[in-house]
Amino acid sequence: MKIRAQMAMVMSMDKCIGCHTCSVTCKNTWTNRPGAEYMWWNNVETKPGIGYPKEWENQETHKGGWILKNNKLELKAGGRLTKLLQIFYNPDLTPIDEFYEPWTYNYENLINRKLGKYQPVATPHSQLTGERIELKWGPNWEDDLAGVHITGKRDPNLEEAIKLAYEQVFMFYLPRICEHCLNPSCLASCPSGAIYKREEDGIVLVDQDMCRSWRFCMTGCPYKKVYFNWKTHKAEKCTFCYPRIEVGLPTICSETCVGRIRYIGIILYDANQVAKTASTEDPYQDHLSLFLNPHDPKVIEQARHDGITQDWLEAAQRSPVYKLAVDYQLAFPLHPEYRTLPMVWYIPPLSPMINAVSQENLLDTVEEMRIPLKYLANLLTGGKTEPVKQALKKMIALRSYMQKQYYDQGEDLLESLGLKPEEAKDLYNLLAIAKYSDRYVIPTNHREHSVDLHAAQGTVGLEFQEACLTCGLETYEEQNLIRKTEVQHGR
Ligand code: SF4
Ligand code: SF4
Repeated sequence: MKIRAQMAMVMSMDKCIGCHTCSVTCKNTWTNRPGAEYMWWNNVETKPGIGYPKEWENQETHKGGWILKNNKLELKAGGRLTKLLQIFYNPDLTPIDEFYEPWTYNYENLINRKLGKYQPVATPHSQLTGERIELKWGPNWEDDLAGVHITGKRDPNLEEAIKLAYEQVFMFYLPRICEHCLNPSCLASCPSGAIYKREEDGIVLVDQDMCRSWRFCMTGCPYKKVYFNWKTHKAEKCTFCYPRIEVGLPTICSETCVGRIRYIGIILYDANQVAKTASTEDPYQDHLSLFLNPHDPKVIEQARHDGITQDWLEAAQRSPVYKLAVDYQLAFPLHPEYRTLPMVWYIPPLSPMINAVSQENLLDTVEEMRIPLKYLANLLTGGKTEPVKQALKKMIALRSYMQKQYYDQGEDLLESLGLKPEEAKDLYNLLAIAKYSDRYVIPTNHREHSVDLHAAQGTVGLEFQEACLTCGLETYEEQNLIRKTEVQHGR
């Protein structure tokens, strides 16, 4: 066993109000500069819909993530030989139009135009070419279901076209950032070894000096969360706000989240099991079993041996992410079938209950909710409805229990779901009224230990990956060793 700590996030789709504050504050912090205009490291999509870039979930088109071939993990876009053959032309690259051509408006015209017959207007101009453009798509084009009667048919999660009919339509918001995966296919796709997963907290970053503009990472990421800066010609992506995280502060998207939907905490996992877990039949259930119980004395002992410090262990024990994903099993990974082992998990939205009055048991309404269970399962559990159903039932039971506490109404359904009253109160505290310090349990970084962690923990647990195409080093362990030496020598 080789224990690692991973900084992880849970977002509660049940509470997201689609205000886009997270996207705007992220943009102002990280991508408010030339070359990055079209980048939204954090974006919020309305579901159903095809999102940003268009149809990012359709891996037959975009070729992101991993597939199992003869029980072995392979990049969907092809391995080493394919990359060598396509090094100067990547046929699977997602063009900028699929994201959108960034634009601005000539506001000057509103102020400076000479007096004329017609009212002046601010027309849209491309931020890339300066030419006037016709607006056809944007990062937020389908906001609140706009145009979804056309685009929604191409949403791969939606099996029942009928649900787009006006009377049956449903919607919820899906905020998205880079998943800082345990098995990142962006990293494995990079011929230059420019993408790396930090040893100390698992944050996935792009080394701007090492990036050679091949852009295979953009194809490799199934969530389409790596972007190409047209000015610097380097790949860029969400940094999980590591300068804030290192000093114990939450990411800027979390800090400013109006709905308080985000939780950040530490997860401990066995790095030796990453490849095996990514290759199993049921990526959600097995992904869950990869997480180690931070209260287990054996885990604590091994974690100490592997260089995890006491304050990080304590943070792992208080982690809201562990509680929501493992203890209560309310949060799920986004598209686990891509096999990247994503580390941003989601609590499914509880839609209004219909026919609640006609049901004998309130929990049965879960089958009749406006948002189809199958849709949520396709998004969060690789199509398995049972885990999502159980999570929604727990949320119904919790609401009903709290109603009974405060208003003497509602039913006590906890027992039927194996929940104790103290657990319900704990969940209520976490989901409804959690304080800042409960939502974000972030230990500060130990820079003095990060190199030791390298030594103690070795590579990123991805030994099955292929050698780097350009430097020829056999494993990422060797590449990390070079990076470690450079850090030690201050280069
Ligand atoms: S979500 Fe992030 S870490 Fe995962 S493959 Fe994409 S860019 Fe890499
Ligand atoms: S700021 Fe929070 S509530 Fe608003 S869209 Fe972003 S995630 Fe949702």
